[in-house]
Amino acid sequence: MDSLVEIAGDEKKMKQNFLFGFIWLILFGCDNELVDTSPGVSWELAQHRSKTISNLEYDITLNIPETVDNPILGLETIRFNLSDISQNVVLDFRQPEEYIHNVKINGSSSNYLAENQHIIIDGSFFNLGKNQIDIEFRVGDMSLNRNDEFLYTLFVPDRAATAIPCFDQPNLKGRYTLTLYIPKEWTAVANGPLLDEIEKENQRVFYFGETQPISTYLLAFAVGKFQKLTAERNGRKMVMYHRETDEEKVSRNSEAIFNLHGSAISWLEEYTGIDYPFHKFDFVLIPAFQYGGMEHPGAIFYKDVSLFLDESATKSQYLGRAGLISHETAHMWFGDLVTMNWFDDVWTKEVFANFMGGKIVNPSFPEINHDLRFLNHYSSAYGVDRSLGANQIRQPLENLNMAGTLYGAIIYSKAPVVMKHLELLVGKEIFRNGMQKYLKQFSYRNATWLDLIQILDELSNEDLKSWSKMWVEEPDRPIIDVAIDFTPNGTVRRLKLKQFDPKKKNRIWEQKLNVHLGYTNSDIVIPVYLKNKSVIVPKTKGLQKPNYILPNGEGIGYGYFRMDKTTRGYLLAHLPELNNPMKRGIAWLNLWEDMLYGFSSPNDLIHLAIRALETETDILNIQRILVMLTDIFWHYLLDYQRQAIALKLETALKTHLYNAQTVSLKSSFFRTLRSITITNGGISWLQNVWMKNDSISGIKFSERDYIYMAAELAIREKSETTDILNTQLKRIKNPDRKLRFMFVMPALSNDESIRDSFFESLKKEENRAREPWVQQAVGYLHHPLRARSAQKYIRPSLEILEEIQQTGDIFFPARFINATLAGHHSLSSVEIVNHFLEEYPDYSPRLKLKILQASDRMFRASEILHQ
Ligand SMILES: [Zn+2]
Repeated sequence: MDSLVEIAGDEKKMKQNFLFGFIWLILFGCDNELVDTSPGVSWELAQHRSKTISNLEYDITLNIPETVDNPILGLETIRFNLSDISQNVVLDFRQPEEYIHNVKINGSSSNYLAENQHIIIDGSFFNLGKNQIDIEFRVGDMSLNRNDEFLYTLFVPDRAATAIPCFDQPNLKGRYTLTLYIPKEWTAVANGPLLDEIEKENQRVFYFGETQPISTYLLAFAVGKFQKLTAERNGRKMVMYHRETDEEKVSRNSEAIFNLHGSAISWLEEYTGIDYPFHKFDFVLIPAFQYGGMEHPGAIFYKDVSLFLDESATKSQYLGRAGLISHETAHMWFGDLVTMNWFDDVWTKEVFANFMGGKIVNPSFPEINHDLRFLNHYSSAYGVDRSLGANQIRQPLENLNMAGTLYGAIIYSKAPVVMKHLELLVGKEIFRNGMQKYLKQFSYRNATWLDLIQILDELSNEDLKSWSKMWVEEPDRPIIDVAIDFTPNGTVRRLKLKQFDPKKKNRIWEQKLNVHLGYTNSDIVIPVYLKNKSVIVPKTKGLQKPNYILPNGEGIGYGYFRMDKTTRGYLLAHLPELNNPMKRGIAWLNLWEDMLYGFSSPNDLIHLAIRALETETDILNIQRILVMLTDIFWHYLLDYQRQAIALKLETALKTHLYNAQTVSLKSSFFRTLRSITITNGGISWLQNVWMKNDSISGIKFSERDYIYMAAELAIREKSETTDILNTQLKRIKNPDRKLRFMFVMPALSNDESIRDSFFESLKKEENRAREPWVQQAVGYLHHPLRARSAQKYIRPSLEILEEIQQTGDIFFPARFINATLAGHHSLSSVEIVNHFLEEYPDYSPRLKLKILQASDRMFRASEILHQ
């Protein structure tokens, strides 16, 4: 649509509204205004509906044909109580008017207005009290993920209304009864219990029983060709649906998958004091599912590869799987039973699920240092909080159609840190009591973050409201400096911690810290409550001069802990000698920040990392080092610097690969090598492994492993890229993986014009339908080895980001822009981004934050490399 026409239309409407309001005022003299029907679901509309609509029930019947292009037809009955008929009743349906075939109110055909993604019906058609709307319609395909052999819904956060007419907001929970007509050979799964399954002519009909009250974003069904596995744990039946063709992989994994779900349910019932709150427990493993998992009650959806692990899977993938299963299972209570009132609090369900997930899983992995693992949250949250696009945990949300932009590392990583601080502040017992009270009080209903803080505040002595204001409602992190003075004879006179607001707004982040003073033989840890701008660390007077100081010792503190010169020098020389893995983890965390702020060089860190790998024994630290190595290698070195270090690095990694004692370690080293290998010798070795002329004892590679190897080889362009890709394509047996590879292939081509036209194709929405495929392909397009030729895609990618936000799934805009910018660090690419932002001063503020977050690495790398 032409933008001028749109503005003219808006003006006309405004005039009409104004006139209408004016007449209304004259006639009735009251301030009753028409409910807001702008596109999406505004906070105002949501408020009005939640106050006036109750006892919602949906009966939905869908007729799903086998062919993807044939429309799905639907019949829907919505029953509800209404307490205000002076206003229009506004349903949400984000499809063209012709999708609505018939609307009846309480049995009679009715007039309605299909406008701005709504079906608007005059209140006078309704009764005070019970009402029924019957709608015949064509189902919108946008969030149905229709494939040749299966389809599945994904309605979070505001996509239910793209498929079916509904009141699409989290605090209007409904009971759903679903009937699905599907092709004969297909099966179906949904939130409700399966009551009956019959054959009717050429179709199969699945009747699902009524659900408990659930929010629209949790409504779900999947239909298609799926295998079905049933198991029972602690007297509860569970069904797993999947499409994996590798039977050995299925049988190798399924026992563990059922066990993990079973024990997560038991743990949650015990912790919360509430039995599993829904009728049944099924889950569906979906190829190329957009997220790790989605917590639809009674029908959790997972990305298949996050549960079906390869034989070469690492320890952290096993732990990741257990964590994911516990996370989604915890959502049955935290999110599904008690749901946020509005999506501004979506972070609460995520943080509870993560927090509970950790408590559930950690004891089953005693060999893993969980405090050290928790440190990963800091790395990931800092990635946003150090950027120019930092956002607060609880962000205001005016319209549900922007809800997708709320998700990110702050919700998934900073919030768990803050929750840990909260549990420390009030104590474990009070925390659990508060949680139980919260779940009981708001069962099958909705609650805000402040409702929980209110409950905890009453149970504890701390002033949680002001604490919450700083940590939850403000972005950024404090900068914390150490100031230390010595007496003439070299002992400590005074040790002081000072905090600064990076935005100079005088904000103060209160937190409890453990200051760690490192000595050659023993260490001293001193607890400090940093309540003000600065605090003198008690009991340090008279101590010997330490080798190093970690103010965030024990890893609880959150901020940019700026190192003093002595500490920096000591750690760069002696980090591998620190005798405790947690200390080494914290030291790495601080050194990484140190490099990003330009205090130490990428080269120093790479050499330290290579040295550290010789003695490091903790798998988490090894993985942290490998991630850092890869990041520095590709993003913080210039071509010639990479060439200079490559042989040393590859040789070291290869030695570790062959010496490693576990599959997990071997895989970690192999994957790093696969990513960073650039020497001729290294590439031909990788090619031999890929061609199966060479093997690595102790690792059995899966089809996916070979696909990744082929992609890396193709990008290096040492031998015939097209041959490698075609050979790999022929070798793929699994049909879903084959399709994915075919999609990604042009992004790997050595022919720039093929890559160009592939990029062009991404501008069309239909070519971005398989988002994980697109993300992977975009990553390859912008691989650092191809950064020069890919730079021209940056600007057009920024230009389509708004459209991607409107058409894609919640994580996709950030992932797309991250994949786009990750491979670049040239001054010219920085300029492209800055120009774009300057040219559009009115650009969507939330998306602008996403761009700034994604650019942080590029900005810093370019400053470090081109200063
Ligand atoms: Zn979640």
